[in-house]
Amino acid sequence: MTGKIHSIDTFSTLDGPGIRTVIFMQGCHLRCKYCHNPDTWKLDDPSTREYTVDELMKIIKRSKPYFRASGGGVTFSGGEPLLQHKFVKEIFIKCRKEHISTALDSSLYIASDIVTALLPYTDLVLADIKLMDEEKSRRLTGAGNRLILENIKLINEHGTSIWIRYVVVPGWTDAAEDIESMANFIAELECVKRLELLPYHPFGSYKWDMLGLKYELEDISPPGKESLKKIAEQISSASNKKVYIH
Ligand code: SF4
Repeated sequence: MTGKIHSIDTFSTLDGPGIRTVIFMQGCHLRCKYCHNPDTWKLDDPSTREYTVDELMKIIKRSKPYFRASGGGVTFSGGEPLLQHKFVKEIFIKCRKEHISTALDSSLYIASDIVTALLPYTDLVLADIKLMDEEKSRRLTGAGNRLILENIKLINEHGTSIWIRYVVVPGWTDAAEDIESMANFIAELECVKRLELLPYHPFGSYKWDMLGLKYELEDISPPGKESLKKIAEQISSASNKKVYIH
């Protein structure tokens, strides 16, 4: 079995606890307007490298001393890693045998039985809530959010730890009613261990240009510190959970 992999970062401190090896998988069905990695969208991109399970495990195992010292592990990200769920599962099973912690950074826009099949081997899910409103979500990501929210609830019911991330895009995701509705949703989830606000930034816009895609958010500036602080306070007081700003 092989996995189509966009890139590998063997020393990340952003995608879960501790020092992590992050595997960015190829393929994604969403089309988020702020996506930093539109070059991961096509599952069958000819420039993608394929790895066997053994090849990837060899790379992962090299960082075991760092994982042990920092409480880190492996994170599958993307793209959408669950488009290649069989490959991810194989790697996670092997990681379990090696006592390597496993995290899944997924949009969760995927059939729920796929999520369920991965949970027994997953220590942490990093889940983005794009927007709570179905229609606004459709405009921002190209798809509705019902499946994503259902999957978050399912992970919570399973008892797996969840980190929630929310990208603050001025004029798109920062309306008070959207923030409130998300905070109320999160308040019901006892497995949410961390909440992160990610300020929008047009980091990936050059990739859109290179791919001949129109970057529609070019006139939007990143949110200011005060606005982020206000949103963090609103979520924190409604959900009773601490909010971290990146
Ligand atoms: S889910 Fe992630 S990879 Fe897919 S389009 Fe959205 S930001 Fe990009």
